[in-house]
Amino acid sequence: MTKTTMVKAHSGDIPRQNPCAQCGTPIAQPDWIEPGEGRVSYLWTCHACNYRFEAVAIFDKAAVEHPPLAA
Ligand SMILES: [Zn+2]
Repeated sequence: MTKTTMVKAHSGDIPRQNPCAQCGTPIAQPDWIEPGEGRVSYLWTCHACNYRFEAVAIFDKAAVEHPPLAA
């Protein structure tokens, strides 16, 4: 199994001040949040160098059993 950029998070947590993967500039909040099953994808856009990257948060089992309400 290959490891990608993953962080553990609890449901409802939105990562903030994530450093840009290219230049290291902290990004206040993700540009886009895409919820999935047991995971949430965050799309970050660096306004300093325009680099875009995705980070995936994997939830613990407890959070998966109580997923956030879908629209
Ligand atoms: Zn950057």
